[in-house]
Amino acid sequence: MAFDVAVIRQQFPILSRDIDGSPLVYLDNAATTHKPQCVIDAISHYYSYSNSNVHRGAHRLADESTKAYEGARDTVARFINANVREEVIWTSGTTESINIVAHGIAQQLNPGDQLLVTEMEHHADLVTWQQACATSGAELKVAPINDNGELNLDQFQTLLCDRTKLVAFPHISNALGTVNPITKMIAMAKAAGALVLIDGAQGIAHGDVDVQSLGCDFYVFSGHKVFAPTGTGVLWGRQSLLESWPVWQTGGEMISTVTYQSAQWNQLPYRLEAGTPHIAGVIGLGAALEWLSRQDLDGMRLHEKALMATATERAEQFEGLRIIGTAKNKLGVLSFLIEGGHPADVGFLLDRQGIAIRTGHHCAEPLMNRLGVPGTARASFSLYNTLDEVDALFDALKKVRLMLA
Ligand code: PMP
Repeated sequence: MAFDVAVIRQQFPILSRDIDGSPLVYLDNAATTHKPQCVIDAISHYYSYSNSNVHRGAHRLADESTKAYEGARDTVARFINANVREEVIWTSGTTESINIVAHGIAQQLNPGDQLLVTEMEHHADLVTWQQACATSGAELKVAPINDNGELNLDQFQTLLCDRTKLVAFPHISNALGTVNPITKMIAMAKAAGALVLIDGAQGIAHGDVDVQSLGCDFYVFSGHKVFAPTGTGVLWGRQSLLESWPVWQTGGEMISTVTYQSAQWNQLPYRLEAGTPHIAGVIGLGAALEWLSRQDLDGMRLHEKALMATATERAEQFEGLRIIGTAKNKLGVLSFLIEGGHPADVGFLLDRQGIAIRTGHHCAEPLMNRLGVPGTARASFSLYNTLDEVDALFDALKKVRLMLA
């Protein structure tokens, strides 16, 4: 069916609520996305009819739960075109996924080695590597951006060398909306012999991730940014790498045999998944990606581009507004400052009018310092937002300007 935003919206119950009489205009999708009814139903169905632990039960409910839970793994593998389903590891989110990778490669890092990130990193993809360097003696290099918020590819290239063990960068910047040229960057990093991790927290919801053709080693994301429950996430990694790592956590499920003295580890994916998982959440994540796959993704992308283009045009014409992040290729995020108003005040005054945005440093404090701003007001769009909502944002901002005057 052709993309129809009205039909999409009907499937998200939360979008019909109001905020003190004003219709909710939810523009905080980079923080978290809403859930369609089918995801809510999948979770509710699991708890209502099949609630049971997975893998080890000898009864009908356990069978049903295991099928739904492992079926979600197949869905994710299909969605990102993983080579094999065993490469899909369940985590609690992007943050945990990155931490598992850092733990996995820690023993291979030595003093003199280098890790490379970018100036637009989310704290999850920065602090984790700072820590990996602190414990291993490796050095953290940071590839610079220009004032528009675009990576300088020449300098990125210059920073790559035979000591670079891993390169990590976001698919799309959560703070600026910059879409990075990840195919090119992966090829450059691979040519230097480095492992490559893509922080896909903001990229995954746009539905065109193919990890095999990208050629990266790890692609990580959170369920809650792609219409699925919080507390779920994915670490996709190359099987040979994941198999070679020390285990992440120990306990049930991740073992094959145990004696009082020692244990042997299970195969992938279970060797990196200790303990009872977030079964309902994983089933919800499977339902969310099934749902997204059924949409007209080309139509969705056109719609999302139209939202971005219209919001940018309106912002450029808006007196007293400064866009933060003016990369040529942007998606989903409009960060801005309003003359005479702290971002927190702008957010508060928009909320009074039913408009939900986010303000602050967006977990990218060094990036804000690099750009010389205290933080920004950030409107972020998803497939269910409308052009009318973009209008509503700027109409409300006019009132904010008057209130601040
Ligand atoms: N990286 C990016 C680019 C993000 O946008 C986020 C979430 N704001 C994260 C990492 C961390 O995700 P989570 O908090 O779900 O682990």
